[in-house]
Amino acid sequence: MHAPPGLRGEFRTDDVARALYAEGAGILRIVPQAVAVPSGVDDLALLARWAAGAGLALVPRGAGSGMPGGNIGTGVVVDLTQAFRDAPVVDAAAGTARCGASVTYQALNAAAAAYGLHLPPDPSSGAFCTLGGMVATNAAGSHSVKYGAMRRWVRQLEFVTADGEAGRTDAPAEGRTAAEQRFLRDVAPTLRERAADLAAAVPHTTKNSAGYALDVYATSGRTADLLTGSEGTLAFITAVEVALAPLPEDRSTLLVTLRSLDDVGPAILALRPLGPSAVELLDRTYLDFVRGAVQRHIPADTEAVLLVEFEGDGQRAVAAVRHFAETTELADDVASVSRLWELRHLASPILASLPNNLRSLQLIEDGCVPVPVLGRYIRALRDSAAAHGFEIVIFGHAGDGHLHANLLADVSAPDFATRLTSCLETVTGVQLSLGGTPSGEHGDGRLRAPFLAPAFGADFAELCRRTKVAWDPAMILNPGVKLAAPGAKLGPETLKVGALAPVLPDGIGARLRDVERAAGWGLFKLSLAPSPSGSAR
Ligand SMILES: Cc1cc2nc3c(=O)[nH]c(=O)nc-3n(C[C@H](O)[C@H](O)[C@H](O)COP(=O)(O)OP(=O)(O)OC[C@H]3O[C@@H](n4cnc5c(N)ncnc54)[C@H](O)[C@@H]3O)c2cc1C
Repeated sequence: MHAPPGLRGEFRTDDVARALYAEGAGILRIVPQAVAVPSGVDDLALLARWAAGAGLALVPRGAGSGMPGGNIGTGVVVDLTQAFRDAPVVDAAAGTARCGASVTYQALNAAAAAYGLHLPPDPSSGAFCTLGGMVATNAAGSHSVKYGAMRRWVRQLEFVTADGEAGRTDAPAEGRTAAEQRFLRDVAPTLRERAADLAAAVPHTTKNSAGYALDVYATSGRTADLLTGSEGTLAFITAVEVALAPLPEDRSTLLVTLRSLDDVGPAILALRPLGPSAVELLDRTYLDFVRGAVQRHIPADTEAVLLVEFEGDGQRAVAAVRHFAETTELADDVASVSRLWELRHLASPILASLPNNLRSLQLIEDGCVPVPVLGRYIRALRDSAAAHGFEIVIFGHAGDGHLHANLLADVSAPDFATRLTSCLETVTGVQLSLGGTPSGEHGDGRLRAPFLAPAFGADFAELCRRTKVAWDPAMILNPGVKLAAPGAKLGPETLKVGALAPVLPDGIGARLRDVERAAGWGLFKLSLAPSPSGSAR
């Protein structure tokens, strides 16, 4: 394959470059045919037209920290971290900021903090994930229980379509791209007519990053709502404008230990009317996992710990949970608040330093269910992991009913991949039967794309397909992500672990493992190459 004529950015087809883009965070490994690093909007437009002509897939990619495989694929991976770096411009009076899509969450917030402002959805990956990736996945974080996910904060987007046209979501009618016009003509009227059906079809959870946000678009009519969460399947996002909120002045934190999983849902429901800014849960599986590193006393019969944050005084919360709590501890000065949160930050370094045969796998890592059934969901997660022969570590954003469940698997066992597939199907079935969603914040990617129709129903899935066709008739943008490709199969040969994982050139697998262990997603992947040989240009 040769670089598209006229491309100004890099285009690489050598084995090393392709291998460096074969993984994101998460469990999948797919080696692309080529890697492109566009130098700007014109390069993106050129790539789109070239791909449509050649029948090639383009895989938009930010920092690569997404977990379900939306940032990898067999076609041409398009690295968007270099070209769209316009620094944040904060309009303090309007409470907004604009920046290029390559800018990280951390950089945006550093600029906003100078005005006493911040972008509230706060992914733990904020040091390295890009604004483009956050919009594309509808990212969220610990504070989303109060502030919601990205979609609530996105004001306007600039984008490049699959036809190779640059557009803006605030463009006047005469300035709209052909892709948006097709969507407005062919699909939007149906969405408006069927708004009530769409609202009934979506999971009734406070967070959701699965499927397209057709229900939201049907009532808002905002293209920015539709593109948010579209995971690189409808357009390349090149610039964002977001709303900002004032930085909170004080925080207090309440640590609650619970003796029964039956108390998890009721305790959270008792806390939510008090307006907590975070309600995080550490399950018994998490406490057992970090026990050696825990400095504080947690009663031995604790089934779950809640860490509840308030902007201001949390005293009233102690009374609200007294009936459920085995113990409570309230911290209201900076040092003691940060000591309580240490418990939440213990797991990542331990998970990252596991030996190579025992891996922490993000397979069922992002389910979200209604809060009243959270205790049942935790039991089902524990049971399903045990039935499939895996350890599990469960924690997450319980105020939204949203839990991260990491499976610990001996990847040298011959049948581990079969057990993984079965576990994914079982747990997704549980999430749906409880009225939940397979993805609270990470998105569908390739991993969860097959569950679109089971989760939302065949009619909703068909409207998603029509939306995709309107925006991307040649199916060049991330095919197989969000909408499963016909016959697509994520077998053991698409995993980054196990005997059948695709083989990478010498040393590259180890470099990618280092990225994972050190959370080095902010590194430009081509900078990890031992030598820049093999450029196709
Ligand atoms: C340690 C760790 C902690 C994490 N914590 C959180 C968390 O708290 N909350 C959370 O929501 N997520 C979290 N994540 C997941 C991940 O960081 C988010 O999904 C993030 O938004 C992805 O951004 P990225 O720049 O890495 O995008 P990528 O991973 O490169 O891409 C993700 C998806 O977005 C698409 N995409 C990326 N950029 C663009 C663009 N400019 N235009 C169009 N499509 C694009 C890709 O095609 C892909 O489908 C975590 C990940 C890690 C590794």
